[in-house]
Amino acid sequence: EIRVRYAPSPTGHLHIGNARTALFNYLFARHYKGKFILRIEDTDQSRNIADGEKSQIDNLKWLGMDWDEGPDKPGEYGPYRQSERKDIYQPLIKQLMDEGKAYESYMTEEELATQREEQKANGEMPHYVDEYAGLSVEQKAQKIADAKAAGITPVIRFKVPVNTTYAWDDVVKGNVSFDSDSIGGDFVIQKRDGMPTYNFAVVVDDHLMKISHVFRGDDHVANTPKQLMIYEAFGWDAPVFGHMSLIINSETGKKLSKRDESVLQFIEQYRSLGYLPEAMLNFIILLGWSPVGESEIFSLREFVKMYDEKRLSKSPAAFDAKKLEWINNQYVKAADEDRIMHSSLLQLIKADKIAKNPSAEKVEWARKLVNLFKRQMSYTAQIVEFAELFFHGPDEIDEDSQKELAADNALPALKSLEKKFEELELFDTVNILAAIKAVQKETGIKGRALWMPIRIAITHEMHGPELPESLELLGYDLSMKHLKAMIA
Ligand code: GLU
Repeated sequence: EIRVRYAPSPTGHLHIGNARTALFNYLFARHYKGKFILRIEDTDQSRNIADGEKSQIDNLKWLGMDWDEGPDKPGEYGPYRQSERKDIYQPLIKQLMDEGKAYESYMTEEELATQREEQKANGEMPHYVDEYAGLSVEQKAQKIADAKAAGITPVIRFKVPVNTTYAWDDVVKGNVSFDSDSIGGDFVIQKRDGMPTYNFAVVVDDHLMKISHVFRGDDHVANTPKQLMIYEAFGWDAPVFGHMSLIINSETGKKLSKRDESVLQFIEQYRSLGYLPEAMLNFIILLGWSPVGESEIFSLREFVKMYDEKRLSKSPAAFDAKKLEWINNQYVKAADEDRIMHSSLLQLIKADKIAKNPSAEKVEWARKLVNLFKRQMSYTAQIVEFAELFFHGPDEIDEDSQKELAADNALPALKSLEKKFEELELFDTVNILAAIKAVQKETGIKGRALWMPIRIAITHEMHGPELPESLELLGYDLSMKHLKAMIA
């Protein structure tokens, strides 16, 4: 049976990279009608954040994923939080110790740091050197007794088999192999606080939860040989592994790091800007996976249907925020009007542009605004920017626009328009259009030479949505005020 899992550590909010890992496991499970499990890897208590688990769960759900077993969905193989599985790990650690495959290590953090510094100074890769090497049984017992007397709490280390090759056939990377002597020496499987380390707990859980395939980020490749050693020590079969390519920032070409502030990386940030979940999901799946053919816009259901793990890319995936905007715009344009309206209203309220309980009139105004801008909106928070024009015009008009206003045609057209506007009984799209047409007839100015000065004079911008609609939204008073200011 196919069983895959997404195993976040609740040390932060849902990151684009994590969401991608979750999605590729999800797609694999759903495509092959297997099970998708959510497991919380929270053994590093000091790094967990208060709402880390909640943020993961909320945002995974927001993206449209569901799971068959998890902390909020009990199943046969629970508990699904590692912090609640201590009783499961402990006897297994003891078993390895009894079999001579693991041992207590009393070296202090200071001693370990000194060891690393010396190795670095000698040009070596830092690694743990067996603290009991060359000692007789008595000397070893004495050393341990001394450390205990000094009150040192030990860690438990796994005895790495010497001179052995650990290899696997990676779904994404093909054949990968590591020499056991290259992995940094006997590694810790239980910390001083009694908690297992990631490399140990992950093996135990993947085995006991009957995980068949593990898809995770490239950054875990170096952990895999350690995990294979533990599978071997217990005599368990290892799952199939697939390590997904890195994500790089397309602007800088560098590996996307959480510290990189040039680009938003957390799902929550996009969510609060009004991005649509289907668009986010669509974008994320294209990070390192590609469908057959040219088209790039698909629903989750379609992705599930056509998913093929063999199309996971070996080369790094470029994170391009502009592409995400483009994809979101595709979804905004196709979305139900009410949905975009609702999302935009929330943005306007959040930005204090309209009241929390807007009047029917304001809502109507907002609806016109949204309809006017919907096609060019990448995400709904932009409505605030678009609306800016309707609250107060920008103080400065840029140089190019100034030039347009200085053209010979500008002033006569604007003066004529002022009169036509004054004569209007109702300032709406139809009448505004008629007024502009009347100016054209009266002055002989037409096309761009007519429309551009009007647009700039009243909206202070060279570009924008349909002019008559924009002016109706701006209203008679403000339109006239801006117009008069240009003529004076
Ligand atoms: N908790 C690990 C992480 O967040 C999971 C790695 C794995 O999938 O094995 O990176």
